[in-house]
Amino acid sequence: MPYTEDRAAWFEGQGLWQHIPENDWRDWTWQLKNRITTTAQLEQFMTLTPDEKAGCEHANHKLALAITPYFFNLIDRRDPECPIRKQVIPRGGEMIVSAEEQLDSLGEDEHSPVPGLVHRYPDRVLFLVTDRCAAYCRYCTRSRLVSNAQDYNFHPEFEQGLRYIEAHPEIRDVLLSGGDPLLLSDRKIEHLLARLREIKHVEFIRIGSRIPVFLPQRITPELCEIFKKYGPIWMSIHVNHPKECTEELRAACERLSFAGVPLGNQSVLLAGVNDDAEVMKALVHRLLRMRVRPYYLYQMDLITGGAHFKVDVRKGIEIVRALRGHTTGYAVPQYVIDAPGGGGKVPVNPDYVEKITDDEVVFRNYEGHVFRYPLKSTTKRVATDVPAPGHHGVPVIVP
Ligand SMILES: *Cc1c(COP(=O)(O)O)cnc(C)c1O
Repeated sequence: MPYTEDRAAWFEGQGLWQHIPENDWRDWTWQLKNRITTTAQLEQFMTLTPDEKAGCEHANHKLALAITPYFFNLIDRRDPECPIRKQVIPRGGEMIVSAEEQLDSLGEDEHSPVPGLVHRYPDRVLFLVTDRCAAYCRYCTRSRLVSNAQDYNFHPEFEQGLRYIEAHPEIRDVLLSGGDPLLLSDRKIEHLLARLREIKHVEFIRIGSRIPVFLPQRITPELCEIFKKYGPIWMSIHVNHPKECTEELRAACERLSFAGVPLGNQSVLLAGVNDDAEVMKALVHRLLRMRVRPYYLYQMDLITGGAHFKVDVRKGIEIVRALRGHTTGYAVPQYVIDAPGGGGKVPVNPDYVEKITDDEVVFRNYEGHVFRYPLKSTTKRVATDVPAPGHHGVPVIVP
């Protein structure tokens, strides 16, 4: 069924997999088992461009190829410029390594006290609990360790990570990521959440996951019960383009929301995918309709072989400027650059302030009109009449 503006979401049904029993299609383990993981499989379904063929040949040495049937259906197979296609089908650009790029561009390994735990900010940790995802984003910031294509030898150590968190009372916030934490079994997820909840100083638990987008079938009622039991669990999902806002994603977000999981979205600004104000506006509007609050818009990290996705930061600022004030404040994500080398996330904003002096701030609004806000007070008159008690903010004390 095609998308029309008055629908909240796309619905593709089973697409290319019409012949599969609906029970299988809706089963997340079926989706995982039937992922497209080889060039030959891809070519059964579509004609690859020479650029994509070149990328596919290289992929297994960099970051494995994997696409769930559900997500593959969202690709426009006739259009090499399809924004979904670019996210999951390798292209030749992945082989080009630029001088400024690094395998560990965020310096995460230096900030890892134990394998799989990144402690960069004093009060919170990033806990990488698996190296596997349902499908692989070609611009993955952790491709060095995710999917184990590079012999990085990453073995998530839950126990060591948990013991580190237990021993560090300054950690009040734990972010489960990976890989995709929701690829773990219910039993493992429950174990992790239960252990974290036992740690008194951990007051905030969140999960970063693209499973709702790649594999919405995984968001089962049983999984939602676990989130309810150990809640509040917050979740950041990862949607980049309005086409990803399908009926299945909407329903998965609803199940999560109804289980008390507040949802945010993290998008990566990607060339030819979402580096356009109208695309971004359609995306954030659809996210709000699915109870998802746009959280961050990331400038792409300087990962190796990522230059073909890179967008000029000035373009990113222009996109945010086209949102702020022009649409619902809740719909506007914070644009950030994760500082190369490990400085953490730094906000990048359009500049509305023209001038600040001791006397005033001069700034522009979203329409470009200039306004002034005086900082100095100049006395106009002194009010001499004393207000009666109970008026003008004078409290009445009742004995
Ligand atoms: C992004 C990130 C966090 C979380 O940052 P917030 O701004 O709190 O969402 C924590 N640790 C690391 C290493 C991160 O990269």
